[in-house]
Amino acid sequence: MDECYPQIENALNEAYQHGLLGKDINNSSIDFDLHNFIGAGAYICGEETALLESLEGKQGKPRFKPPFPANFGLYGKPTTVNNTQTLASVPMIIKNGPEWFKTFGTEKSSGTIIFSVSGHINKPGNYELPLGIPFNKLIEYSGGILDGKKLKAVIPGGSSTKVLPAHIIEDCTMDYESLQEAGSALGTAAVVVIAEGTCMVNLLKRISRFYFAENCGQCTPCREGTGWLYRILDRITNGNGKESDLELLVDVANRIEGNTICAFGDASAWPVQSFIEHYYEEFEYMVKHKGKTKAA
Ligand code: SF4
Repeated sequence: MDECYPQIENALNEAYQHGLLGKDINNSSIDFDLHNFIGAGAYICGEETALLESLEGKQGKPRFKPPFPANFGLYGKPTTVNNTQTLASVPMIIKNGPEWFKTFGTEKSSGTIIFSVSGHINKPGNYELPLGIPFNKLIEYSGGILDGKKLKAVIPGGSSTKVLPAHIIEDCTMDYESLQEAGSALGTAAVVVIAEGTCMVNLLKRISRFYFAENCGQCTPCREGTGWLYRILDRITNGNGKESDLELLVDVANRIEGNTICAFGDASAWPVQSFIEHYYEEFEYMVKHKGKTKAA
């Protein structure tokens, strides 16, 4: 963020100096101003209505919807909220036309997307690639799995999307329909690569800690539920887990899902449900062996 802000400020200044922003752009009678605004770093401010609240100088808490921002947005005015990836695609679409953009990708998931590959990978980074590329190709572009290890699992669309074991993701193409069919989602295309040997219980605890820390606190199932999830996982990893804890984890996650103001609640529940579904024996082993991992 520290790097981005001055770069965007410089770009804005250049655009104003060349008459591409401001009053009467290129004698077109069109006025258009663009402002750079830096938030305080809260994850929830990526939710569009929390972002609008934050822009208005309030706490970044998602609004009840409807009304949606298109009707009642910033300062109550109709507002369009786009993410950076969309805006990054626009210049090339304007330049080359939508048909050109559609030549990339699949019939249902057309165009390109920026995959942010992280985790156990040799070259983590952002890769703009056509939607629908085979998963193994993405791994190849990202330099392969770290230390030549085998793939264990992948979280394909940001930590809130459901984890997929290697034998499922390896047959997938990276597009909306293929990942949905596989039981997860493309989400933000933030692909987390997990190599063999990783303890899925500890990884889930790490993810749950994030959702516990970052929720905005305004609805009870999310505020209380994320704390419960984290504390149960913490006691399991500390060797104090009970056999009933696995059922309790899923029960708490199910009670959060679908019962909150924004999608953050679901985002905190889905990792728990999917990690336990696919790696139940690792959780069970850790409970029985007082915090010892069965990671393979
Ligand atoms: Fe806040 Fe969580 Fe409710 Fe979203 S789901 S509004 S983050 S408490």
